[in-house]
Amino acid sequence: MTDLDTTKQADSDEKEKGTPTVTRLEPTTELLAEIESKSQELETATPQEILSWASERFGPYFAMATAFGPEGMTMIHMLSEIAPETPIFNLETGYQFQETLDLRDQVNQRYGIEVQLITPELTVEQYEAKHGGPLYEKDPNQCCFDRKIKLLQDVSRRLHAWTSAIRRDQSSHRAQAPIVGWDKKFGLVKVSPLANSTKQDVWGMITKYDIPYNPLHDKGYSSVGCWPCTRAVLFGEDERAGRWSGTAKTECGLHSIDD
Ligand code: SF4
Repeated sequence: MTDLDTTKQADSDEKEKGTPTVTRLEPTTELLAEIESKSQELETATPQEILSWASERFGPYFAMATAFGPEGMTMIHMLSEIAPETPIFNLETGYQFQETLDLRDQVNQRYGIEVQLITPELTVEQYEAKHGGPLYEKDPNQCCFDRKIKLLQDVSRRLHAWTSAIRRDQSSHRAQAPIVGWDKKFGLVKVSPLANSTKQDVWGMITKYDIPYNPLHDKGYSSVGCWPCTRAVLFGEDERAGRWSGTAKTECGLHSIDD
């Protein structure tokens, strides 16, 4: 498997000196023009065509992040056929449901793909001890930063482009997502092959190809994140209403476009 471990190995010497081996992409005028043009061109492409382009364009420096949602599971299925060498990683906050983590094994059994777990520096126990209890109760933004954003910042040092399975119709915020864009927060090109897909498209593919999915979806959890910040949704509620319910927070920050 050509994965992040391999790249880590390659730059381990340099990392010790604090210098990543992978030369970071700079958002030059030429690069921004290229991805804007490609994004428009790919508006009518299939998710498979978008993934094919991205894996060819960015080669070993292209990776997928997944929280094992239904959208991500369909993309893993596609990548297993198009570019199975693509590194796939999960930001393992330490607060994920066991049902979510179990999908990692199912992916391995079904596709022979090992999803890499990226973990924070501190365990949950160490982190809660440091903050005098669970930070998700007092400051979920900081908790998401420490246990998600920071991890992707670290991974991004070894990449040029990343992909995730967001859909534009999931929220008004995600409606702005381009197919291909410059992600200034992480200094990467971001590819969203499912931007134009619908919930029906995703579940239709899961059914058609018998793709594994999180059993929590059958218990009313339409969107699954960390267990302390996720609840099942009620009939008629928005599909992301169960995330950080009762607070103004709607995103962990990984997919924020305006900051
Ligand atoms: Fe922490 Fe909740 Fe964010 Fe998970 S979703 S990192 S538990 S605040």
